[in-house]
Amino acid sequence: MNARAATAATRVLVLNSGSSSLKYQLLDMREGARNSPRLAVGLVERIGEETSRLVHTPLTGDGSEVKRERTGPIADHASALKAVAEELAQDGLGLDSPELAAIGHRVVHGGLRFTAPTVITDEVLAEVERLVPVAPLHNPANITGIRTAQALRPDLPQVAVFDTAFHTTMPESAARYAIDVETADAHRIRRYGFHGTSHAYVSRKTAALLGKAPSEVNVIVLHLGNGASASAVAGGRCVDTSMGLTPLEGLVMGTRSGDIDPAVTFHLKRVAGMSVDDIDELLNKKSGLVGLCGDNDMREIARRIGEGDERARLAFDIYVHRLKKYIGAYYAVLGRVDAVAFTAGVGENSAPVRAAAVAGLEELGLTLDPELNTVRSDEARLVSAAHARVAVAVVPTDEEWEIAQQAFALVTPTTPPGPAF
Ligand code: ADP
Repeated sequence: MNARAATAATRVLVLNSGSSSLKYQLLDMREGARNSPRLAVGLVERIGEETSRLVHTPLTGDGSEVKRERTGPIADHASALKAVAEELAQDGLGLDSPELAAIGHRVVHGGLRFTAPTVITDEVLAEVERLVPVAPLHNPANITGIRTAQALRPDLPQVAVFDTAFHTTMPESAARYAIDVETADAHRIRRYGFHGTSHAYVSRKTAALLGKAPSEVNVIVLHLGNGASASAVAGGRCVDTSMGLTPLEGLVMGTRSGDIDPAVTFHLKRVAGMSVDDIDELLNKKSGLVGLCGDNDMREIARRIGEGDERARLAFDIYVHRLKKYIGAYYAVLGRVDAVAFTAGVGENSAPVRAAAVAGLEELGLTLDPELNTVRSDEARLVSAAHARVAVAVVPTDEEWEIAQQAFALVTPTTPPGPAF
């Protein structure tokens, strides 16, 4: 029995550090400990501004949660984590507790090197830093989060769980761009994919919903949040995904264009006189649904469509058209599909998007049950017609649980996995 097992360390703090935000969850990975493994959840936003805000919710498990809020300047991530630790301590969940087994960090870019969750050492951190040029928006914030947590609990294993890891199984035929190989390799230009933690979780959960092992099923996962990506998962292994070198490629998203002829960027520079930074901002922040109709929230778009708004209608149609193309493409890549799974904000909540995305695909075995599709639920569920050859599933994603589970399994290898699906 190792030292951690002796002190029954079963809690994992999951940190998701953005450039000006820190999202966190504290989970207890003991099997059957409670209905839900979540002990507390929270968010610090606008770090570095005068108007920072911390919202903390302890979860007692009996539904009597009371949110606590702090406002006022929080200068940096170290102060943010200190404030989080204080809130947790108030609930008897202090981060100095021997029950804490590990801190799990979401790290966006792990390149090709990190194919699995990894205990963070100086060498690992140096490699994550080397990847900053391919993830300039995300990896620096993740590194800050890691350093901050290391300072708080230097004795504790810190585990990096990479957004790219699940996609490292993609064959070269899917991962390489058709550009000069030497140039690509010199600059590590290839398709990495993102949202991997979600694609991993949802594809496994979908298999469980079908009563099968992940190795027995082929699943198309559609992660439709503000960022959106599709993946083709064959027998539990990712064989293609829609995001590429960066999270800009692929589906139409809230503010990102997704796939676009690269020559559009030359045109914007040469003809429209835009700078590279302007074009970056246009395609990442002012495109997608917001660029098409001014709104990136699918609820608002649905409301406007209901009022006969033509721009909102067109934005919806373009969004769905791209989605449908990816379903078709990944059907062809997989050859046989057992399920199409919708997840994240839009995928879990928008019955119209699900209905439109699979409409007309009956010949491929995809038929929705219109009533099941409109039922609202937080549970993973099937929404396909009973006779349909291919299941259509709605699976709420849970990236924090997946990160906690992967981190916990890594630091307590002899401990059986925590709460099962
Ligand atoms: P992210 O984590 O990428 O920020 P989420 O997965 O939380 O995003 O998804 C956010 C999006 O989900 C919102 O912008 C909105 O378009 C969509 N969404 C959330 N709730 C609903 C709903 N009830 N109906 C339709 N769309 C919704």
